[in-house]
Amino acid sequence: MTTLNTKIEHLTGVGMSLKRTLNNLGIFYIEDLLYHIPFRYVDFSSKIAIGQAQVGQMVTLEGIITEVKARRSFRSRLQFTEAVLEDQTGIVKLVWFNQPYLAKQLTEESTLVVAGKIEWFKQKQLTNPYFEFTDEGNQTGKILPVYHLTKGITNLRLAKLIKNAWDSSSQNIHDELSPALLKKFGLYDMRKSLENLHFPASKESLKPSQLRLAVEDTLPQQVASLLRQRQLENSKAPAIATDVDYVKSILVNLPFELTNSQKRALWDILQDMEKGRPMNRLLEGDVGSGKTIVAIISCLMVAKYGFQTAIAAPTEILAKQHYDTFVKFSGGLENEIGLLTNSYCQIGGANASRKEMLENISRGQIKILIGTHALFSEHISFSKLGLIIIDEQHRFGVGQRAFLGKQHSQDIVPHFLSMTATPIPRTLALSLFGNLEISQLLQVPKNRQPITTQLFQEEQRSQAYTLIRKEIASGRQAFIITPKVEASETGTKSVKEEFERLKSVFPKMRLGLVYGGLKGNEKDRIMSEFNSGNIDILVATTVIEIGIDVPNATVMLIEGAENFGLAQLHQLRGRVGRGEHKSYCLLFTTQDDQLETERLKIFAGNSDGYKLAEYDLSQRGFGDLFGQDQSGFSFKYPQFLTIKALKTSHDVAKEILNNDPVLENYENLKNLSHKYLETIHTE
Ligand code: ADP
Ligand code: MG
Repeated sequence: MTTLNTKIEHLTGVGMSLKRTLNNLGIFYIEDLLYHIPFRYVDFSSKIAIGQAQVGQMVTLEGIITEVKARRSFRSRLQFTEAVLEDQTGIVKLVWFNQPYLAKQLTEESTLVVAGKIEWFKQKQLTNPYFEFTDEGNQTGKILPVYHLTKGITNLRLAKLIKNAWDSSSQNIHDELSPALLKKFGLYDMRKSLENLHFPASKESLKPSQLRLAVEDTLPQQVASLLRQRQLENSKAPAIATDVDYVKSILVNLPFELTNSQKRALWDILQDMEKGRPMNRLLEGDVGSGKTIVAIISCLMVAKYGFQTAIAAPTEILAKQHYDTFVKFSGGLENEIGLLTNSYCQIGGANASRKEMLENISRGQIKILIGTHALFSEHISFSKLGLIIIDEQHRFGVGQRAFLGKQHSQDIVPHFLSMTATPIPRTLALSLFGNLEISQLLQVPKNRQPITTQLFQEEQRSQAYTLIRKEIASGRQAFIITPKVEASETGTKSVKEEFERLKSVFPKMRLGLVYGGLKGNEKDRIMSEFNSGNIDILVATTVIEIGIDVPNATVMLIEGAENFGLAQLHQLRGRVGRGEHKSYCLLFTTQDDQLETERLKIFAGNSDGYKLAEYDLSQRGFGDLFGQDQSGFSFKYPQFLTIKALKTSHDVAKEILNNDPVLENYENLKNLSHKYLETIHTE
């Protein structure tokens, strides 16, 4: 008898090698197998005539086999089976690799249904298509699940294993949501949903089943969000009354006037902090929209009342940059501003010892503390923490957020502001964090010029380099970005190799190299050299993706652009066009893949970060929007995550908590949601 917790090697037919293969797919227990969900389906029920099949199209075709042969290529040692499938309207070649036994199964005159993508190699071809014999009867008309695979297992084999596991163990699948609750929200139970996803009886049953999985997936986060909201509603925070004259005195000393959106966002924040209840606000603004100054004025106001602010940036470079900006605009408060990272410990622009720093923080001498994750790992105790600001918060791991969360004292909770340049569509943000307030900086300060984005073929590379030379000759600077640090099999360039190559391409220019593995102070030294114009071309990985502000830089060249999500590309592009000079974003790809080019064309033609984010959301799903594994959300099925799923999940969470405020009857949900609660994410 197997249960959900039985190891897969105890399933009949699973030996050591298949076990390893399954482990590679993240499947260790029967339960993992049942939750290994197909990522797409082949619909055998909607066939078209072979003559109508277009190259590039996903099709299902039916015909009769007129030729079969098994072949072997001596050079590549590949074995393959070739067949020709024919109907009244045309023929298509079928090719299978390394399945020599197929030649025996497929005989001339047998009729087949096949499915796959039409390719063109002198004629129409399907490579490794799914197929079924028409005379197997019951199979035709069925919807075939397609699973993520790895070397050593075929789709059919995996499907059979799942069927075995299902037959032996599915009765143990337990739904934590009661039948009444499911009924109320029109949801399938988990068992039925999984059954539909693995063995779909109809296309129509897929969507509601995927919805049920997405609800299961997001429910802990939604429950945590509601619990946090209740906590916050009953908490006190420092009441920071807005001193309008003080704000005015800061504003008149700025070298620029705030945009209307900046004024509104600042006002929103100051209003929130007056109330004596913890603020929970997200400041969204495209790169260069000027979030920093809004943060600075907010901190200064908090400092005016003797409270401290902790500001966390995702990288040392950004922390240092923030620190310099804060000191510059602090109006004589520089001795109350500290910078604490792994390689920096500074107060008022001068080096300090860690001991001195920690003392100054705990005595309340330091009013504004800027840092990276080092802020979380040190034993820092604030005397009066009034505000926490997290820049690019989605970059922080859950554990790191949890640490700052512990700084909350029992009775006074600090205000919380997170800032992001990731254009999270408002609908998504609101569905994710129910109680979050949002300020958006929609305007960008006036002096910006539109950035010309251009896609280059490999043969046009010299044109791109000529442009860089021309810009540098007229005093400007350039970035060259590569996606990977080390060279990889995929053809993406290693940043170090690329740096060496570029030195010979631009022998007369001053080049700098920055990547994630560099020591903090080395990285920083190069960045400040670039900042002060002593480096012409900065070769880098995406460590410079966010926040870097060098208005004299006018060229952003990106290698392997297909590796990036559009939102991420948009952030890279935002590193230029920050001054009064005309700027350029030049894109190269390593593969000439049609689809990628299409995506990049959309990027080139669109400068609205929110539109690009929505496009990414619809095309590549939720995960891409935040960058892999960086969102702090551990959703297992981001591909099923829709706004509708989030809304349903929110309503279910509310219903559960109304009836069972401490989750007495929801052991699993309780555990999972408490993990979320240990964070200071914006929920
Ligand atoms: P981001 O929102 O990407 O963090 P920053 O805060 O770094 O943007 O601001 C980008 C640049 O624009 C900085 O050099 C900043 O001094 C400048 N800036 C900010 N607000 C204004 C404004 N209202 N007018 C002109 N320049 C501004
Ligand atoms: Mg910024």
